[in-house]
Amino acid sequence: MSRFLVGLIGEGITASLTPAMHEAEAAEMGLDYEYRVLDLIELGRPATDLGAMLAEARAAGYAAMNITHPCKQLVLDLVDELDPDAAHLRAVNLVVFDGGRLVGYNTDWMGFHDGLVAGLPDAGLDRVVQIGCGGAGAATAYALLSRGVLRLELADVDDARARELAARMRPHFPGREVIALRGGDLDDAISAAGGVVHATPLGMLHHPGVAFDVELLRPGAWVSDVVYRPLETELIRRAAARRHPVLDGGRMAVGQACASLRIITGAAPDRERMERHFRAL
Ligand code: NAD
Repeated sequence: MSRFLVGLIGEGITASLTPAMHEAEAAEMGLDYEYRVLDLIELGRPATDLGAMLAEARAAGYAAMNITHPCKQLVLDLVDELDPDAAHLRAVNLVVFDGGRLVGYNTDWMGFHDGLVAGLPDAGLDRVVQIGCGGAGAATAYALLSRGVLRLELADVDDARARELAARMRPHFPGREVIALRGGDLDDAISAAGGVVHATPLGMLHHPGVAFDVELLRPGAWVSDVVYRPLETELIRRAAARRHPVLDGGRMAVGQACASLRIITGAAPDRERMERHFRAL
């Protein structure tokens, strides 16, 4: 049986739930699989050491490496080959050591896409508003358009970020409307949307709050949050209380891990089993 040694490189990741997710599912799949955390802060290494760390990992027999903040863009210049979706997104969160070659993938967008399909299969896709256009927001926008959203309206406190993300997405999705909202236009856009995706850090333990007024939502509009610590953010709690279909950030987190495990092993993880395990962690 082949052995898989996999790692995660990033800053402040010692409490990551990713190792537990990968190892538990790999064990269920009957794989010999070990997942290690390589925290740059703990190792006293700067992010610019990423190239050296990937070379060391390859020499040490790693099969793959997940990559997280602050290295998802740095790694673009270090891989030999980029999966087309990762190239469009200009961000890589998985490097697979394929023989001597380093191949970069982005499983964040896959995670959100697959989580949306599994968690809100009937979500209306005609008109969706997304708030937050940073790293997670790029992945969710790409996933929403890949899923078939016809009109995507992007908002950010920093209007330039919404404009930049809209301009980046448009060439990859001809025939769709990708609009950058100005701050003042957000309320009207939310009132008209069939779904709203929240992709800012608001709702995390150290960033309490909600980025928009939930009372503006149309009856039946769906709401998705990328924040997953806690799983029940104030947004999710308020939207669910008003009977809106909701998708918490856990779906994206599990979907990302599931897609990574599939690409690394070439086998098919059980997404719902991973979901149950994640929620019990
Ligand atoms: P980021 O800093 O790259 O982007 C955040 C964006 O939100 C920025 O553009 C910022 O200007 C904008 N913003 C902040 N407050 C706002 C507000 N009140 N209204 C409108 N825009 C606002 O951060 P990121 O990496 O995209 O992470 C965002 C969140 O996504 C974090 O909580 C992170 O934990 C979560 N995340 C979840 C997953 C998952 O798998 N569920 C994956 C990645 C990130």
